Amino acid sequence: MVNPHSPSVGVLALQGAFEVHARRLADLGANSTLVRKPSQLAELDALVIPGGESTTFLKHLERSGFYDVLQHFVQNKPVFGTCAGCILLAREVSNPPQPSLGALDIAVERNAYGRQNESTILTTETSLPGGPLEMVFIRAPRITRISSQVEVLARRDGSPVLIRQGRILASTFHPELTDDPRVHQLFLNIVQSSPG
Ligand code: GLN
Repeated sequence: MVNPHSPSVGVLALQGAFEVHARRLADLGANSTLVRKPSQLAELDALVIPGGESTTFLKHLERSGFYDVLQHFVQNKPVFGTCAGCILLAREVSNPPQPSLGALDIAVERNAYGRQNESTILTTETSLPGGPLEMVFIRAPRITRISSQVEVLARRDGSPVLIRQGRILASTFHPELTDDPRVHQLFLNIVQSSPG
């Protein structure tokens, strides 16, 4: 049921882990929609770009005429990028270099934790209230540079893993894969406090 008082939050559903994000957002009271066509963006207050494979995302985005519309959206509306989504939002991507939307003033290195650490679960203090947060990393990127506009909310081995730049939130881990709703709740708080 669509609640007219709740924000409409899309989850980019071209590839990757989109269903679980949509369910989590709905559980927290948002009207969540799976986004498969560029025309859907016009009706949204905010967007989640999920994890997956950023190169595959790029192929889909370029093929479906999505790229330019999405670039405009991320310059203007709240966006939450997880893992591959964080890579797509970054200004600079390495290992190897690839195009990106450039909305977040950070540099990321793809697949930066090596084969042995392909998937890791860590429980770490963050600046979110409510105690340590469980974080699931899957072939995660490393954030290697941030500008002074970027606020770090959590780190792994000294590198930022949860960051915010104004209305943009990004994590190099998958918050949808644990039962803890705090990261999605933070995003919805950002959405609620952003001007229409
Ligand atoms: N390794 C993927 C990439 O470079 C990201 C992995 C993920 O989203 N879990 O795009």
